[in-house]
Amino acid sequence: MKEPVVILGAGVAGLSAAQELVDRGVPCVIYEARGTPGGKARSIPLKPGRGELEALAESPALPGARSLHGEHGFRFIPGFYRHLPDTLRRIPSGDGSVLDHLALTRDILIAPDNAAVKRLISGFPVRYRELPASLLTMPTLMGLGIPPREWLVFLDAMYRVLSASPQRRLAELEATSWWDFVRAEEMSEAYRRYLCIGITRALVAMKAQVASTRTIGTIFYQLVAHSLDVGGQLDRVLDGPTSEVWIGPWMQALQQKGVRFCFGTRVE
Ligand SMILES: Cc1cc2nc3c(=O)[nH]c(=O)nc-3n(C[C@H](O)[C@H](O)[C@H](O)COP(=O)(O)OP(=O)(O)OC[C@H]3O[C@@H](n4cnc5c(N)ncnc54)[C@H](O)[C@@H]3O)c2cc1C
Repeated sequence: MKEPVVILGAGVAGLSAAQELVDRGVPCVIYEARGTPGGKARSIPLKPGRGELEALAESPALPGARSLHGEHGFRFIPGFYRHLPDTLRRIPSGDGSVLDHLALTRDILIAPDNAAVKRLISGFPVRYRELPASLLTMPTLMGLGIPPREWLVFLDAMYRVLSASPQRRLAELEATSWWDFVRAEEMSEAYRRYLCIGITRALVAMKAQVASTRTIGTIFYQLVAHSLDVGGQLDRVLDGPTSEVWIGPWMQALQQKGVRFCFGTRVE
């Protein structure tokens, strides 16, 4: 019998490695410090006695709210992802796969301080009733308070990302923070909030001052390109708590294929 490959950590990376190995006939064992799989992608159940969250969990307005789960971020699975949907398609769930649990989002809501919520259509309009919001995209964006001159600075920055060769992206853009690249220091508060910090924090939970331009710029233009694509899927989210609809079935499927999990085992 082959020696098992030892995988450290049952996060998305560790579980993906196990899936690729075991599907190629290589046995593996996963050591995980925590008592549960999923790492940063796992759902975090609410604990009793946490003020507002506890009140929410007790709310009669939310049937079954006892099982409310917390999540790191909103778990978006944008349309430009390639490997993750393939992984999800290979995890059985009910009569289908975990991929069936992806729900397409149609709205983006921006909630500025002390102002009405702004609504944008997420992706190319495919229904008549989406047309008004779609036509209002430019005025809505202009209403964020970013001066037109600064939009031009941002568009110029995006143009420089788009037109950079792979070599330049690695040599220069990887070494430049998004903050510096989009000249945040010289710009208005609104510019910094939406085009600098907003993009990095909302997209990949990274700090604009340290996130590389290669990462953020590449993700951002792929997102925009997908939103302009007819039938493109800008953003999908899971239709339930991540651990319930994805991580749990994933672990079960891997166990059935012979992957061994050792929880509560911190590797030193
Ligand atoms: C706030 C936030 C929001 C996010 N939102 C999204 C999103 O919407 N969409 C998206 O695609 N991505 C999102 N991400 C990114 C995504 O969650 C991560 O990229 C991904 O979960 C990382 O997986 P990983 O397996 O590499 O690392 P981790 O999830 O960190 O897993 C590492 C695992 O290793 C274990 N471990 C560590 N040290 C040891 C040790 N010594 N011995 C044994 N085990 C150990 C840890 O306990 C953990 O379970 C978000 C991240 C954050 C922080």
